[in-house]
Amino acid sequence: MTDSFKAIMISRDEDKKQSVGVETLTIDDLMDGDVVVKVEATTVNYKDGLAITGKSPVVRHWPMIPGVDFAGTVEQSDNPDWKPGDKVILNGWGTGETHYGAYAGKSRVKGDWLIARPDSISALDAMAVGTAGYTAMLSVMALERHGITPDRGPVAVTGANGGVGSVAISILAKLGYHVIASTGRMSEEGFLKDLGAAEVIDRAELSEPGRPLGKERWAAAIDSVGSHTLANLLAQTQYGGAVAACGLAQGFDLPTTVMPFILRGVSLLGIDSVMAPKALREEAWARIATDLDASKLASLSTTIGFDDVIDTAHAILDGKVRGRVVIDMAR
Ligand code: NDP
Repeated sequence: MTDSFKAIMISRDEDKKQSVGVETLTIDDLMDGDVVVKVEATTVNYKDGLAITGKSPVVRHWPMIPGVDFAGTVEQSDNPDWKPGDKVILNGWGTGETHYGAYAGKSRVKGDWLIARPDSISALDAMAVGTAGYTAMLSVMALERHGITPDRGPVAVTGANGGVGSVAISILAKLGYHVIASTGRMSEEGFLKDLGAAEVIDRAELSEPGRPLGKERWAAAIDSVGSHTLANLLAQTQYGGAVAACGLAQGFDLPTTVMPFILRGVSLLGIDSVMAPKALREEAWARIATDLDASKLASLSTTIGFDDVIDTAHAILDGKVRGRVVIDMAR
C-alpha cells in the first residue's frame, strides 16, 4: 500500500474563484519527476502568501500544491545524481507555480532542481533561510561581483523586517558592512540593531515620489520593495555604486529617471532566484553556511506546524510576519 500524506491544494471553480484546502494524497497523485523527496521542512515566503491568498497570479497550473521551497530527504530516485537518504534543498524552478510544491508530506520533482544540503545546515535551518534568505545571499554576491566592499560605504536594506531584508542585514553585518535598515516598523529598531543594522530609518523617507538625484547616502542597496522606494534608493546611491533589486512588496513599478545611471554610473542589478543556474545556487548555499551566524538565524526565525501555513500566508501579505517562518513538517 502507498503511504498517504496531507497536502495544501489551491483549486479554482468555473468562475475562476480560488479556494484553498487540505487534501490527503499518495505519491500517485503527484506530478511527474524522477526523484521523490520526503519534505521535512518548508517555509512561508511572500510569494507563497500571494499564491494562497490569490492576490497575484503566482499559480499558473490548476489545481496546485503551493510552496516554493523545501528541505527533505530523498526517498526514491531514478536520477543518477541522487539516492535514497540524500539530504536535499529545493528553491524555485516553478514549484508552487507550475509544478506541485512544498506544502505536502512528499514531493516528486526533477532531480536537476535539487541541490545537496550542506552538512552544517539542518533541514529546519535551511528553511529558516529559505528562498528569501537565499535571495538575500544572491543579492550580496551580485553586489560583490560589482566590486562593492565594506570600505566603499554603507549598504541600505529595505523591507528590513521581512525575510529577504532580515537575512540580508545579518549577512552584510557579518561581512563588515555598515548597514542602514529601512523599515515601516520602527518599533522593531532593537531587533534590527541586534541583527547587525548600524542605523535604522523609517521607510517613509523612501516610499514617496522623490527627486531624480539626491544626496549620495550609500554605496549600495538591497531592495525587496520596488516602486518609489527603489527609485529613491537609486537616486541616493553614491557614484559608481549599485542596487540589487529582488522584490516588489511596495509595487512592481519603477518610477525613476536615467539620471542616477548616466550622471553617477549607478548600476541596477536584477536578482532572480527561481531560475538561477545550479552553480550559482550551490555557491549561495555554501556562502550561507559560512557567512550567516546561526545565532542571528535563530533570532530572526519562528517555527510553526503545517496546520498554521494558511493563516501565516495571509499574515505575511499583511506585513505582520517578522523575519522568517519555518514549517516543521514533523509538528
Ligand atoms: P516579507 O513579507 O517577509 O518582507 C517584505 C517586507 O517589505 C515587509 O516585512 C516590510 O518590511 C516591507 N514592506 C511590506 N509592504 C511594504 C510597502 N507597501 N512599502 C514598503 N515596504 C513594504 O517578504 P520576503 O522577504 O519573503 O520577500 C520580499 C520581496 O522579495 C517580495 O516582493 C518577494 O516576492 C520578493 N522575492 C523575490 C525573489 C526573487 O527571486 N527575485 C525571491 C524571494 C522574494 P518592514 O516592515 O520592515 O518595512
